[in-house]
Amino acid sequence: MRQEETIRQVLQEVYEEAGAVDEGELAGYIPQLASVNPEFFALSVCDTAGNCYAVGDRGQSFTLQSVSKVLAHACVLSHCDEERLGQRVGVEPTGEDFDSIVKLDQHRRAFNPMVNTGAIAIADLLLSIYGEDALPKSRSFFASTMGVDSLDIDQSVFESELATGERNRAIGHLLKNFKLLDHPVKEVLELYFAHCSLCATTDQLARLGASLANGGQLPGGGERVLDPAVVRKVLSVMLSCGMYNDAGRWIYDVGLPAKSGVSGCLLVVVPGELGIAAYSPRIDNRGTSVRGLMAVRLLSERLNLHLFA
Ligand code: GLU
Repeated sequence: MRQEETIRQVLQEVYEEAGAVDEGELAGYIPQLASVNPEFFALSVCDTAGNCYAVGDRGQSFTLQSVSKVLAHACVLSHCDEERLGQRVGVEPTGEDFDSIVKLDQHRRAFNPMVNTGAIAIADLLLSIYGEDALPKSRSFFASTMGVDSLDIDQSVFESELATGERNRAIGHLLKNFKLLDHPVKEVLELYFAHCSLCATTDQLARLGASLANGGQLPGGGERVLDPAVVRKVLSVMLSCGMYNDAGRWIYDVGLPAKSGVSGCLLVVVPGELGIAAYSPRIDNRGTSVRGLMAVRLLSERLNLHLFA
């Protein structure tokens, strides 16, 4: 285990260095995300024993966006057989943008759960599993993985995406065309957008990361919230597909399972040890937080976190 003092010190250094960067843009394609304060910056680390360290705006909540894909994947794996999921969603990285349609048209199956095609197909499976309670039930499953009772929905972000998400609607219709959805596109997208609009703080995400690092048990000897077999699958897909079309570079340089969201949040897992979360809303052209990316790269380097180090 890494020393508490070292973690605190490195976290502070990295926060100051990454905080000096102001490159990137807000995710204006979802109008409501363009109205957040671009200066927010928070980093949290939680170890499997339950110790948490944080710097910056740790109390600031943000929408999970694509980080919710990790939870939807864990949820569907916990409730549906692998074969059914595998018929609709694979585990191959796309090398394309997160909202790419290209490969779907070629392969007639969503490439992986970490991009929009896969997450929309998974939202449909969750509707089959839970029926009309899909949102409250999946939402409470998501909350349990962070050890909290409930997660708020940012209604304005939800409505903003519902009003403008034409590309995701196009993905929905294409999936439907290939018989990869059993429910109406509108219903499936409402669930998908609601998942993207759930809110958390970096402390909560770091706790989720620590549960994943801990084989599915909440840190500090807490409740088991995920099956270890589910955690293994989720982390594998996060490692190969979690960082959009930057996945290869990310594994090479940082070497940790991770997932980023266009709100500027980033969830990272150091298996057996730590959950790390970053939030800073200015993102690069791939959709990842510029400060968050830099901070995690530095943390991985200075704390020697790379899986193959
Ligand atoms: N709600 C966003 C979308 O579907 C999520 C994208 C992301 O965070 O990568 O466009």
